[in-house]
Amino acid sequence: MRADSAIEWTESTWNPVTGCDRVSAGCDNCYALALAKRLQAMGSPRYRVDGDPRTSGPGFGVTLHHDLVDAPRAWRRPRIVFVNSMSDLFHARVPLAFIQRVFETMEATPQHTYQVLTKRATRLARLAPQLSWPDNVWMGVSVENAQQLDRVNELRKVPAAVRFLSCEPLLGPLDSLDLTGISWVIVGGESGPRYRPVDLEWVRRVRDACSLSDVPFFFKQWGGRTPKIAGRELDGRLWDQMPVAATG
Ligand code: SF4
Repeated sequence: MRADSAIEWTESTWNPVTGCDRVSAGCDNCYALALAKRLQAMGSPRYRVDGDPRTSGPGFGVTLHHDLVDAPRAWRRPRIVFVNSMSDLFHARVPLAFIQRVFETMEATPQHTYQVLTKRATRLARLAPQLSWPDNVWMGVSVENAQQLDRVNELRKVPAAVRFLSCEPLLGPLDSLDLTGISWVIVGGESGPRYRPVDLEWVRRVRDACSLSDVPFFFKQWGGRTPKIAGRELDGRLWDQMPVAATG
C-alpha cells in the first residue's frame, strides 16, 4: 500500500470530526487525545475546543468540520481512507444529519475505499438503517477485551460490504470471539510510555480463529514504549492479509 498515513492498515486519513470522549479500557491511552493537546498547543485551528477533562482533554472537544465533509470528492487518485482517526463518527454529539452527509460523500466517491471504526456500536446499529451502505464503506468496531464482544453482535446488524474488527490495543483474551459475518480482523499491541503488554497467546488465538473461519488477519504490531520497538512478526512471519476487495 502507498501511504500518506503512518497507520499500517490504511493509506490516508480524513477527519470531518475531531474530538471524542473515553468510553472503555481501550481508550485509556488514546493517541488522538494526546495528539489533539499537542496540536492545540501548536495553534492548530481545528483543535480549539476543549473536551470534558474527566473523559476528554484540551483540544479534544467534539468538533464538526463542515468544510471537510466534501474533501474526498477532490481526490483523484483512488485511496484507502481511514475516516475520523481523531474522533469517533458515532459519538452521541455527532448528529445523524452530519453522519448522513459523510456517508453521502463516501457513496459519491466510489474510487476510494473508506474504513470507519467506532466504539459506539449500539448507536451504529441503531442509525444503520438510516444510512446508505455503498460497497466502498468498510465498517468496523474496536474490541479490546472480552467485555466488548457485544460490539461484534451490534456490528453484525449493519449491512456493510465489509465488517471488520480492530482488536487494538488487545488487552485480554477473546476466547469466545464469533467471526460469523466478519470479513477482516486487525490485532495490535499497545504502544507508548504507559503501554499495557499484549500476550502472545491472545494474539495467536485470534489468528487461529481467523484461520479456521477463513477471515483475513492483519497483525499490526507488538507495541511497547514505541510502536516499532518489538516489530510485527508473529511466529516468524508478517500477517498483512486484507479483505478481498482491497487486494485487487
Ligand atoms: S473512542 Fe477512540 S478516539 Fe474516542 S477516546 Fe476512545 S480511543 Fe480515543
